Amino acid sequence: MFKRLFSTSRYLRDSLVLIEGSGTQINPASLSTVTAATQIGEPITALVVDPKIAEEAAKISGVSKVLKAGGPQYEHYLAEEVSPLVQQILTKNKFTHFFISGSSAGKSILPRLGALLDVQPLSDITKVIDGKTFVRPIYAGNALATVRSKDEIILASVRASAFTPAEKQEAAVIEDVAVEDSNADTSNRTEFVSEELVSSERPELGSATRVVAGGRGLKNKEAFDALVEPLATKLNAAIGATRAAVDAKFCDNSLQVGQTGKIVAPELYIAVGISGAIQHLAGMKDSKVIVAINKDPEAAIFNVADIGIVGDLNEIIPQLIEKI
Ligand SMILES: Cc1cc2nc3c(=O)[nH]c(=O)nc-3n(C[C@H](O)[C@H](O)[C@H](O)COP(=O)(O)OP(=O)(O)OC[C@H]3O[C@@H](n4cnc5c(N)ncnc54)[C@H](O)[C@@H]3O)c2cc1C
Repeated sequence: MFKRLFSTSRYLRDSLVLIEGSGTQINPASLSTVTAATQIGEPITALVVDPKIAEEAAKISGVSKVLKAGGPQYEHYLAEEVSPLVQQILTKNKFTHFFISGSSAGKSILPRLGALLDVQPLSDITKVIDGKTFVRPIYAGNALATVRSKDEIILASVRASAFTPAEKQEAAVIEDVAVEDSNADTSNRTEFVSEELVSSERPELGSATRVVAGGRGLKNKEAFDALVEPLATKLNAAIGATRAAVDAKFCDNSLQVGQTGKIVAPELYIAVGISGAIQHLAGMKDSKVIVAINKDPEAAIFNVADIGIVGDLNEIIPQLIEKI
């Protein structure tokens, strides 16, 4: 009898999802994270550490309650401050699952939380099999591992491009997290100093439905600006780049796609002068339609391309821009 009760309670699901945002906008990656959580089951509680996004978080489909924490210490999602807060909330409320997007903040908060709770976190999940079993890429996306956690509480970061963003719903209730619940530990020696944001009118690379990416084949920054930029503008696309292009200063390093850059899976990915190195493919090969433009018919990018154009990008791109 005890055994049966135990096994039933073990499979009760109660998920906490940390929602990130900027201004009053929820980050699209957090919407995808909620979708991943709904695949475990409901209820889902959203945690916001930026009160400005609480109302929007309450409108995310599947969220039954929002916990709102606020305070200067949580601004900029400083992992040293947010992790102990999440630890306390998870412990006091007996949540079974905690999800966070695989954003920079998520990558920083999740391992700290794992250490605080003595739990092995699961990073970058791309599929939910059941409440304990998940799929995640390994070896830069060249293999998929199915992992089953034995921990009582699941801590996971979610690869946003693998889940569709959650829709909107009628607003759920919002509750304040009592200040005494928050991190009272004053031993933290990390403080936020400043950040430099690249502002752009373009769609955000991580969530854009179209991406035009340039590689070393463009040869210089002038060509990158003269060819990739107008093509992206015509398509209302985000701009991406290879590490070689970033290293050669063709564009800002926030645009790097790949193993050590952003992971994207847009509807359309146009790779211009990109060879298709394995580290680049790791960041874009799940795109729905891949168009590759390269003068070398043997280039590896053609192995993943749906449409391959063999030729000189200096001739092809202006023609494409004109036709579009
Ligand atoms: C640990 C590690 C992590 C890495 N992480 C990343 C990462 O996150 N992202 C990433 O992108 N790379 C990463 N790299 C680097 C990666 O290995 C490649 O060096 C890089 O992706 C190559 O970039 P590229 O395709 O722009 O350049 P190249 O490999 O030099 O390819 C340029 C291509 O342009 C074509 N070309 C040249 N001229 C023209 C023309 N006129 N018209 C048409 N085509 C032309 C050429 O045929 C060639 O195929 C990483 C490497 C390591 C070791």
